[in-house]
Amino acid sequence: MALIVQKYGGTSVGNTERIRNVARRVAGYRAQGDQVVVVVSAMSGVTDNLIKLAREIVPLPSDREMDMLLATGEQTTIALTAMALHALDLPAISLTGAQAGIVTDGVHSKAKIRNITPQRIHELLNAGNVVIVAGFQGQTHEGHITTLGRGGSDLTAIALAAALEADLCQIYTDVDGVYTADPRVVKNARKLPEVAYDEMLELASLGAKVMQSRSVEFAKKFGVVFEVRSSLNDNPGTIVKEETESMENVVIRGVTLDKNQAKVTLVAVPDKPGAASRIFKALAALNLNVDMIVQTSSHGSGAKATDISFTLDKPDLPKARKTLDALQQEIGFTEAIADEGIGKLSIVGVGMRSHSGVAARMFETLASNSINIDMISTSEIKISVVIDLDRGEDAMRVVHDAFLGAGA
Ligand code: ADP
Ligand code: ASP
Ligand code: MG
Repeated sequence: MALIVQKYGGTSVGNTERIRNVARRVAGYRAQGDQVVVVVSAMSGVTDNLIKLAREIVPLPSDREMDMLLATGEQTTIALTAMALHALDLPAISLTGAQAGIVTDGVHSKAKIRNITPQRIHELLNAGNVVIVAGFQGQTHEGHITTLGRGGSDLTAIALAAALEADLCQIYTDVDGVYTADPRVVKNARKLPEVAYDEMLELASLGAKVMQSRSVEFAKKFGVVFEVRSSLNDNPGTIVKEETESMENVVIRGVTLDKNQAKVTLVAVPDKPGAASRIFKALAALNLNVDMIVQTSSHGSGAKATDISFTLDKPDLPKARKTLDALQQEIGFTEAIADEGIGKLSIVGVGMRSHSGVAARMFETLASNSINIDMISTSEIKISVVIDLDRGEDAMRVVHDAFLGAGA
């Protein structure tokens, strides 16, 4: 008998037939004697729709009320999934994040899990129930409902697997596993049998939305091995786990494109100590995720000035703009220009540590396809470039072909 945590994403519970399908799969594991905790997302499109509704009322809704609203998506699915299990004569009970003992900090829309008290789930499992937990949500000590960031049901599943000391953690989605690139964009992308935590973390934070990056961080920290697989078939998926020696033999594990980034350029920032610190401190106070930062060398005669560009998540742009507008006079830059027409293309692989010439090959591939590079950033296991969004998918395909195509 094993304790299994299974997470089903939006498409996997996208209609009532799919929810019945989930119930049948769970019943299969129960029939083998396993205990099953099921984490579900909102039905596909529901969260986006709720966000749209809120914005029809007010452009910058209150974070607390936004979480109250978004948490309803998952609450619908847990009840329907429990009903689908009842229809198969299986005892099942649904729990909200709070009822499941998930306590978070108070950072609405991006809350971090502080702790999980899993006693109630264990009791319900031991009494013979399938326990169905709403993904993506928790509750603060003070009783406010919070959400864990987009894609956060992955985090609920991984965190529950750690807290329950589960034997198996399965992330069911609408593709067969983690691929060398998004299989919807790159037709010859290949399914990866295994991926190291650090690679999955980079892939996820650089745009491979198949896993939420914070969930991978959590899995690495607590050593939760998990499998990404399809809810529509029984094919083996991708195992995400600690790095092994043989993983370094492969130079590049995958290619990603993040279309969800925007670039902000602050023009003519006075070149004196403290300017950058004040700007980025103000953005950090909003919990904004600022990424690539590039500062040009000083220009102008007399009082010197520099331009500072950085990237951030597109949905955070209105908040950033409000703060930057407020800082403009105080700091003395002439304008803040936002560009939403960018894409961040990245290649990722632990093999980069032991192979040289990878960046040169990536840049050469882009150049020979007349794709201009706007910004560059690298780490030990990844190289990212900012390019024109219009050329993003082309760039993804040519770079994938160069490193991971049939002839590579
Ligand atoms: P879920 O609703 O199950 O959480 P998501 O839509 O969040 O599913 O993630 C699955 C999607 O991620 C796939 O449909 C696929 O298009 C996309 N994706 C992007 N990059 C990759 C990749 N490298 N491997 C697999 N899927 C990817
Ligand atoms: N429903 C939430 C979202 O769409 C969480 C999730 O699906 O994981 O982001
Ligand atoms: Mg997801």
